[in-house]
Order: sequence, then C-alpha cells, then structure tokens
Amino acid sequence: MANDFLHDPDSEYVRARNRSYMEVNGRRPGVFLRTFGCQQNEADSEKLAGIALSLGYEYTDSPEEAALIIYNTCAVREHAELKALSRTGEIKHIKAKKPDLIVCLCGCMAAQEHRLNDIKNRYPYVDFLFGTGTPEKLPNYLAEQMRSGRRAFYPDTEEKPEIKEGLPVRRESSFKAWVSIMYGCNNFCTYCVVPLVRGRERSRRREEILAEIRELAAEGCREITLLGQNVNSYGRGLYDDYGFAELLEDICRIEGNYWIRFMTSHPKDASRRLIDVIAAHSRDDSRPRIVRQFHLPLQSGSDRVLKLMNRRYDTEAYLSLIGYMREKIPDIALSTDIIVGFPTETEEDFAGTLAVLEKVRCDAFFSFIYSIRKGTPAADMEQIPESVKAERFGRLLAVQNRISLEKNLAYLGRTERVLVEGISKNDPAMLTGRNEKNRLVHFAGDHSLIGSFADVEITEADTYSLTGRLIGRA
Ligand code: SAH
Ligand code: SF4
Repeated sequence: MANDFLHDPDSEYVRARNRSYMEVNGRRPGVFLRTFGCQQNEADSEKLAGIALSLGYEYTDSPEEAALIIYNTCAVREHAELKALSRTGEIKHIKAKKPDLIVCLCGCMAAQEHRLNDIKNRYPYVDFLFGTGTPEKLPNYLAEQMRSGRRAFYPDTEEKPEIKEGLPVRRESSFKAWVSIMYGCNNFCTYCVVPLVRGRERSRRREEILAEIRELAAEGCREITLLGQNVNSYGRGLYDDYGFAELLEDICRIEGNYWIRFMTSHPKDASRRLIDVIAAHSRDDSRPRIVRQFHLPLQSGSDRVLKLMNRRYDTEAYLSLIGYMREKIPDIALSTDIIVGFPTETEEDFAGTLAVLEKVRCDAFFSFIYSIRKGTPAADMEQIPESVKAERFGRLLAVQNRISLEKNLAYLGRTERVLVEGISKNDPAMLTGRNEKNRLVHFAGDHSLIGSFADVEITEADTYSLTGRLIGRA
C-alpha cells in the first residue's frame, strides 16, 4: 500500500500524542505552514500539510494557535534567505509563551550545510530542520522530537532520494493544482543553488502523473501546472523514447474542462517536437488544452555571459527557438527570466540583453539582481558593484515595462477567457483571474464565478494587468 509509511510506529506514536492533546485541549493540535519561494516549494508544502493532517493535526492560519510550525524555506537568492530567517525570528516570542510548540524549518535554505550551524546557534527555538527530498520522513522527525525533546538537524544525505508516491496532499485550491513531474536538477548553471539543495534530476513515472491528473480532472480542476526545474528533460534516465512532449500528448487525452501550464523550460532542451505538440493541442480558441504561453528563461543576452553561466545555448539558438514557436503558434505569449549583474557583466553584455528583449518582445518577465550563492562557481568569479547592478536593473525594467504595456494595450476590445481566481486584493468589489496567456484580469462579477472560466471583454490595460467587463460564464 502506497501509504504504508503513515501506519509505521512513528506515525502511530505521533497520532497517539495528538489524540492525548485533543483529550486535554478539546481540539486537535494546529499545524501552521509558511511557504517561501517557488511553486515547487508550494507543491512540497501541500504534501507536508497533507501528511500533518493525516497525523491528527488540523490546519491553522495563525502561528499563535499552532502546536507545530513548519517553515518551508527558499535559498535561490540572499533576499529569500534573509526573509525566511527574519520570519523565523518572529517565532521566538510564540515559543517563549508555549514551550511545547514544535518548530521545524525545511526546504532549500535548510538543506545547506552552512545554514545548519547558523540556525543551531542563532535560533535555539528551532527544534528540527530537514531539506527538500524526503517529506515522507516528517512523521519520523516529529516522533523523535516528541520522544526525546532534543533538537535535531537532518542533512540531505542522498543526491537522488527515491520519489515517494501516494503521499497525502492538502491542496490550497480546489480548482488549480500543481503536479510535480520531476525533482532536482542536473544543469548546474553557475549562479544557481538549486542543484545543490534539490539533488539530481529524477522523474516520476508517467502512470503516477497521469493517474493524478485523471483524478484532478474528474474532481473538476480547471488548471493544472506541471512542475519541474527543467520539464523539458522529463523522463531522462527513466524512459528511452518517452519525454515531455509524449507526456503532454498523453495528458491531453484526459477528458475534463481544464487547461495545462508547465514550468520551467530550459532553452537547450525545449524541442521543436514539443512546440509541435503544443501547437496541435492549443488550436481551439475556446478550449485550448495546453495554454499558448511559454516561459523560457533567457538569463542573459550576451553569449559570453551565457557561457560563464553554463547555460549551453547562445542567443542565436534562443532566438531561433522563439522564431519556431511564433511560426507554429503565432499568438503565443512568452515570458522569461533575466539575471542582471552576473559576475564580469560589462555594459556591452548588458546591451546584448536589452537587444534580445527588444527582439523577443516578451509579454512578461521576471528579472533578478545577481545574488552570490555559497558553493556555486559564480560566487568565486569577479563580482561587479551593487550600484552598477541596481542601475542596470532599473534600465532593464524600463525597457520591459514599455513592452509589457504595449502588449497589454493590444488586448483592448478583445474578449478573453479568464479562470476566475478570487477577489481582487486592491478592490473587494472586483474579481481577479488570469487569461490563457497568464495576464492578470480584473472585472466586476459575482463571487460564485470563482473557480470557473468566464469571458471578459477587456476595457482597460496597464503595465501589469487588464481590466474588463464580464460577458458571461464560459
Ligand atoms: N529551474 C528554473 C528555476 C530556477 S530559479 C529555471 O531554470 O529557470 C528561478 C530563477 O531565479 C532563475 O531562472 C534565475 O533567473 C533566478 N536565479 C537563480 N539563481 C540566482 C542568483 N544566484 N541570483 C539571481 N537570480 C537567480
Ligand atoms: Fe538552476 Fe539552471 Fe537548474 Fe534552473 S536549470 S534550477 S537555473 S541550475
């Protein structure tokens, strides 16, 4: 049975302790989970939450109410780590009032050797810490903590931990779902900590993925996002002649009223065959199975910098791939990631990045100021001053903002199908959602639309979002 581990002695022990808690307190112990960083972390947190619930915890939105606090951390940039550490600091006063509270840090920051000592010494109220690869061990760690009361630090010892299937999941949304199709990364881009904290690449078996999607589609899920650090290399080492394109084709055969997104792609592995599959399954305007939107990180528009980054493509190959996408799927929306201020980046290199952005004219982008990551090769390269990085970042943003606005203005007067996600943060009278191209769309409408598709006529556009008028439920 897939869930055998949830009936092992450690899990039973935690459950028994939680039953006693309930007898004393009249309610189940609460688990509070905070997630930092990317979608992969969000997906991991949904599993940790699922496991905690199966151990007798109940979910709580308030750390003060919790008997177990789990912070699932990020390490991709220094800023992310500082944020996780400062939020960790806030737990001190809660633990002071509630000595029985169990505090756990996990995820990418916690998977780094040098952080172990840091946390051991500076955050004495953190009870245990573990990395990214083995969420199924949460019951063992909890049992050990409850029995001994001793602090524990569990380093990720395996480079390629086995993928545990059948873990319980507590999904945040009833109509949007993350589905991890693979874990880890083998690419070792020289700036990136991910391969160090998430281990080597490993793919889930296709039967497991398809079964999960079948279940989601049957439950009425409207958006499924396939996750992996490099989804284009799905299946490598597992199958000889079955990759991401084939997986997408199989998924498209699953009936349901949903669309598929995926991230992230790597330009060196995104194949023309994959683009052909997307083209074939996104033709029907009213029901595109795969969204006509592609996130393809460029990182830099300088071939010299791309080489130093170990990205293994050049700008020509990138532009040629984009050309093929636009030929096959003329209205495909593109987005990208750019790193500004990589070590040794010259003004000429940076001008190359601006030039490629002008050529590609992405619909959206995510830009990052280079951040030194301990243990990566780029950390030992010649760094450039922060002031230069910041100045270039500003210029980059100005160029992309102009392009994004132009792209958004082109939506005026068009009717867009939108997956309605919730109530607008800025205006409670408005609903908010995303169109197929992942543009944020605001419009006035009944709350009962949340979780379904709606057609919206676009009447206003700015750099970051569109506003429209509801035409009707789709
Ligand atoms: N596997 C994905 C996501 C990696 S992390 C991919 O390859 O795209 C997401 C983004 O963070 C990267 O695309 C990169 O642009 C950025 N990033 C990674 N390491 C960084 C660093 N040290 N400094 C600044 N940005 C970084
Ligand atoms: Fe990091 Fe590169 Fe792997 Fe993406 S592909 S996770 S940027 S090493």
